[in-house]
Amino acid sequence: VRFTITVEQQMLVDSVSRLTRSEFGAVNGARDLPVGVPRNYLTTFAEHGLAGIALPESAGGQGGRLIDAVLAIEAVAQVNPIAGDALQALNFGAVQQIAHHGTDAIKEKFLRPCLAGQSLTAIAMSEPEAGSSVSELRTTARSEGGQVILNGSKIFTTHGADADFFVVWVRFAPGPDAIGAVIVERDSAGFSIDSSNAFLSGERYGMLYLSDCGVAEENILVGQHGFRAMISVFNLERLGNAARSLALGQAALGQAIAHASERVQFGRRLDEFQGLRWRLAEMLLKLESARLLLYRAATNTDDGLPSESETAMAKLACNRAGFEVANEALQILGGYGYDGDSLVGYLFRRTRGWMIAGGTTEQMLNRIARGMVHQASPAVSTPRRVAEGAK
Ligand SMILES: Cc1cc2nc3c(=O)[nH]c(=O)nc-3n(C[C@H](O)[C@H](O)[C@H](O)COP(=O)(O)OP(=O)(O)OC[C@H]3O[C@@H](n4cnc5c(N)ncnc54)[C@H](O)[C@@H]3O)c2cc1C
Repeated sequence: VRFTITVEQQMLVDSVSRLTRSEFGAVNGARDLPVGVPRNYLTTFAEHGLAGIALPESAGGQGGRLIDAVLAIEAVAQVNPIAGDALQALNFGAVQQIAHHGTDAIKEKFLRPCLAGQSLTAIAMSEPEAGSSVSELRTTARSEGGQVILNGSKIFTTHGADADFFVVWVRFAPGPDAIGAVIVERDSAGFSIDSSNAFLSGERYGMLYLSDCGVAEENILVGQHGFRAMISVFNLERLGNAARSLALGQAALGQAIAHASERVQFGRRLDEFQGLRWRLAEMLLKLESARLLLYRAATNTDDGLPSESETAMAKLACNRAGFEVANEALQILGGYGYDGDSLVGYLFRRTRGWMIAGGTTEQMLNRIARGMVHQASPAVSTPRRVAEGAK
């Protein structure tokens, strides 16, 4: 068991932090933040070998390990949250689904431009009537005349406003075993996107509408019976989500320490008050404990994929730590933290979202409990829709 990162990994962390600072700058307030991921963030990271860090070189990746990708995202997001989102898009989410499931032709057409930072992709699973119970999704796919015809709608798609193409989760027939995924390009006929809505964090999300949208059959990424495989790969996305939660919590702690060391009330610096010192110590404890779970999940991989249970624990712990620390930091900054432009306010809003995105905290608890229940009493079966169809 090792509890330190290697010299090479520390060099990676230092170099990506430096790169982010010099190319995009550290973020000091909510007003500094661009809306969406600027394209030059993607190209710059790709040019520096930070796209597909954990993907094999044969797929256009860097041939590194999952833990390296997690460390890089954590380091980058701590300096600049939007740059962290860019690195996430270049390494996890739809990129991983394509790398794991795509044919050579799909990889050539869709993965290569993403890994070059020239194309942005998004993952469209959630629907108005199918959130946590994603296997109840209703978007249909049927083959007709060499095409797949898609009908349905999607909600909350991150990068919906800017993505060039979407990995759309669909059903080929009724029932939980008939789910797969199809790649839909932005300009496809019968496909429209409404990106006028935003999350609490200010990020715009897409509402996608597919109305007899016909795409080439070659765009089928995963045929029916693919749900389990797609969810296994989705665990990678969860680790990127966890890494960013942790990073933003760490950034919030930095804000709290800096403020407490300067702000004087009752004739003393805030950090001289015992009550606040304990609070800072508790914040660090939360982050460090969550970090250990994240690094464990990212290190113990099987065929490049982390375990379901370790991923769920890591995501849950990092989501909680990130949000709770950001919340505490906001309190320590007082009215300055609650100012609408404060960085800590933004970190609070972003970390809150990750307790819902990528599988809610409750779904992570269900996943952890599922492993425990199966081990303790195999005779007790969890209802199928919760056990197997959940995000
Ligand atoms: C910031 C952000 C980014 C997102 N990005 C994307 C994206 O890129 N692509 C995409 O497809 N989706 C995306 N989503 C959607 C996200 O995946 C869903 O919001 C999430 O899965 C929850 O679904 P829901 O909102 O429909 O809530 P519901 O599933 O309706 O759940 C509502 C509440 O009930 C709880 N609940 C539900 N079932 C159970 C149960 N069995 N036991 C206990 N509690 C339960 C949930 O935990 C939650 O608290 C994003 C969401 C957010 C907030």
